[in-house]
Amino acid sequence: MQTDDYDIVIVGGGLVGASLAVALKPLAIKIALIDSFHFGQPQQPSYDDRSIALSYGSRLIYMGMKLWTSLAKDVSAIDKIHVSDRGFMGAVRLDAVEEKVAALGYLIESRVLGGHLYAELNASAVATINRYMPADVVGLDSETDRVEIEIKSVHHKKTQVLRSQLLVIADGTNSTTRQKIGITSQQKDYGQIAIIANITPDRSHKQQAFERFTENGPIALLPLSDNRCSLIWTHKTEQAAATLALDDNAFLQHFQQAFGYRLGRFIKVGQRSSFPLTLTQTEQLTATRTVLIGNAAQTLHPVAGQGLNLGLRDIAQLVELIADQRYALGSAEMLQYYVEQRQPDRKAVIQYTDSLIKLFSNDSLLLGHVRGVGLMATDRLPLLKKWLVRKNIGYHHRKTRLARGLMVKS
Ligand SMILES: Cc1cc2nc3c(=O)[nH]c(=O)nc-3n(C[C@H](O)[C@H](O)[C@H](O)COP(=O)(O)OP(=O)(O)OC[C@H]3O[C@@H](n4cnc5c(N)ncnc54)[C@H](O)[C@@H]3O)c2cc1C
Repeated sequence: MQTDDYDIVIVGGGLVGASLAVALKPLAIKIALIDSFHFGQPQQPSYDDRSIALSYGSRLIYMGMKLWTSLAKDVSAIDKIHVSDRGFMGAVRLDAVEEKVAALGYLIESRVLGGHLYAELNASAVATINRYMPADVVGLDSETDRVEIEIKSVHHKKTQVLRSQLLVIADGTNSTTRQKIGITSQQKDYGQIAIIANITPDRSHKQQAFERFTENGPIALLPLSDNRCSLIWTHKTEQAAATLALDDNAFLQHFQQAFGYRLGRFIKVGQRSSFPLTLTQTEQLTATRTVLIGNAAQTLHPVAGQGLNLGLRDIAQLVELIADQRYALGSAEMLQYYVEQRQPDRKAVIQYTDSLIKLFSNDSLLLGHVRGVGLMATDRLPLLKKWLVRKNIGYHHRKTRLARGLMVKS
């Protein structure tokens, strides 16, 4: 069987795996990128209709990857955020101008972001990134000095072995590669489904985002181009099917009732899709010569819009470690250092997102009033608001070159 040697093999060419490949380009090391699908195939889970809110911290990382100039043409800036709780008083209003930041976030459709990443990989003058797509991982063998990944091409059924110093597992929530290497995950089902769609109001959204907590779960409405809004509408699992089955007019009416009239009347809705919501996390982030990043390491409820942002910070740390060569590539020391650097941020974001869901998906009257008081208090405390903004835009994590918007040093 043919064996090819690589420095790094990345399994999963979704938003996180493909971003890592782009970030590694300047280092001119030999990389293999494997995905079960070609980019653009409708079945590939990463590049669908969802819109992603990139934090300012993620903007800096894409700047460091020299990708922001082209992404900037396709992002829609979030200038203001309005947070409210349906049926209870109190709201928090965040404003980029008041907080003296360029924007509170940037919205981009995941398919469009994927288009930029793959254009960058295609444009690569560096012939050191080989793509194996569509191909599946059929076997894994890791030793202290190397890891061997056996893959099978989906079209030709040809099997081959890739030998690597480091295996990066980025194949998403239900990672089969993670299972093959023997890392277990814990899954908590929130009993909720997110319905997503693009929806157009008759009043201008003025680049404002809305986060509205309801007894069934949160609603996020984020500003897109052409006055469209990207909607993430969380439902209790047992209620989602009925909402999905509504025709467009009935859906618009149903949503109008839940959201209210802050943006006037909703007049148009695009194609709807749905996602079951879980918190999936692994105890371990590494195994021999192996590291997990992105959704393969942790999958979060999308309410706080943190999944990809966290995955990009995984990338920034990993690339920094690979570039500075303080530790041998894929060595136990390198992986241990990676874990030490990433765990605090990871744990904090998991806990923050999970607490939001617990607090705001509870229909107890008492908790509702407590939340209302909390929102009013937050709105009146500039320092608390500043902390919230900094937390959401990723200002806390500027340790690596990429996270500071700088290119990695080769
Ligand atoms: C509705 C919704 C809204 C969201 N909004 C935001 C947001 O605003 N901000 C934010 O930061 N995050 C958001 N997220 C989270 C974000 O979308 C994910 O964190 C991110 O897409 C994860 O990317 P990934 O590459 O790790 O995993 P995936 O997107 O799951 O990609 C995994 C890739 O691996 C491939 N693959 C799978 N198995 C194999 C295999 N065995 N071999 C080879 N390849 C394989 C798949 O084809 C896929 O391409 C949202 C999520 C949802 C559901």
